Amino acid sequence: MRIPKSHPRYASLVRRERLVRAWKDGTVVPEGLIAHGRGEAFDYLLGEESSAPALVAEKAAAAALLRAKRPVISVNGNVAALAAREVVRLARAIPARIEVNLFHRTPARVRRIVRRLEAAGAEAVLGTRPDARIPGLESKRALSDRDGIFTADVVLVPLEDGDRAEALAAMGKTVISVDLNPLSRTSQRATIPVVDELTRALANIRKFVGELQDAPGEAARMLRAYDKAGNLGATYSFLEWRLKVLRRRARPTRTRTRRRSPHA
Ligand code: ATP
Ligand code: MG
Repeated sequence: MRIPKSHPRYASLVRRERLVRAWKDGTVVPEGLIAHGRGEAFDYLLGEESSAPALVAEKAAAAALLRAKRPVISVNGNVAALAAREVVRLARAIPARIEVNLFHRTPARVRRIVRRLEAAGAEAVLGTRPDARIPGLESKRALSDRDGIFTADVVLVPLEDGDRAEALAAMGKTVISVDLNPLSRTSQRATIPVVDELTRALANIRKFVGELQDAPGEAARMLRAYDKAGNLGATYSFLEWRLKVLRRRARPTRTRTRRRSPHA
C-alpha cells in the first residue's frame, strides 16, 4: 500500500508497513507485531516525541557506550526491520559490535537478520555461532557469543524482554534498554532505561555520541550525574503533565447560558 506523505500518521504507518513486510519474509515474528502495538500506545500517550527525560537517558546511554571497553548492540527482528541502518550507523560511531539475539530463535531467522544488517552496511555481525550461555535463562534465550554480549561491559538492548535485561544486569553489565513502556520489567531492570521510540532513540544516541566525542570529560560527568530513579520519576511526571494537558483540552468550553429575563 502507498501511504500518502500528508497522512497525519505517516511515520507510524510506514513503521507498520515495514514490520508487516518483515513479518512476511520471516524477519519479524507475529509476537513482534503485538509488542509493537504496545509500544505505539505508549508513544501516543507520550506525544510521539522524545521527552526531556528521554533525551537525558539517551545522553547517558551515549556516554556509557563511549566509555565502554566492550560495547555491544543487541539486535532482534523488530529492530532489524525498523532500524537496521540506524543500528549500523551507531555501531560505527561508537564503535561497537553488533550481535543478533532473538527471543524466538531459529538459525534461519538469525541468518536472515544478519543479512539484513549486512545489507545496511554492517560488518562481522555476531550471533550465528553462539558459544556461551547467559546464567539464569533457560533454553535458547540464554545463547550468546563470547566475543559479543557474553563478555560485553555495556549492552544496548532495544526492545528486550524483561528477563533477559535482568539476567544481563545480574552479570554486572551496564544494560541500556529502549522501551516506550516505562512500566515494563525491561525499563525497571535496565541500568539506563531509555523510554523513547526505537528509531528516535537510536538517532538521538548517535547524535549525543558525536557531541560527547568532541567534549572531553563530559561523558564521565554525564554518567556521574545520571540518576535512574530520578529519570524514571521524571518520565512519570512528564506523562502526568501530558495527561493534564489532554484533560484540559477535553474539558467542554463553557458556553454562557443567558439568564432568562424575568420579563420574558
Ligand atoms: P517486560 O515487562 O518483560 O519487559 P514487555 O511489556 O516489555 O514485557 P515485550 O514483549 O518485551 O513485553 O514488549 C516489548 C516492549 O517494547 C513493549 O513494552 C513496547 O512498549 C516496546 N516497544 C515496541 N515497539 C517499540 C518501538 N518501536 N520503540 C520503542 N519501544 C517499543
Ligand atoms: Mg520488555
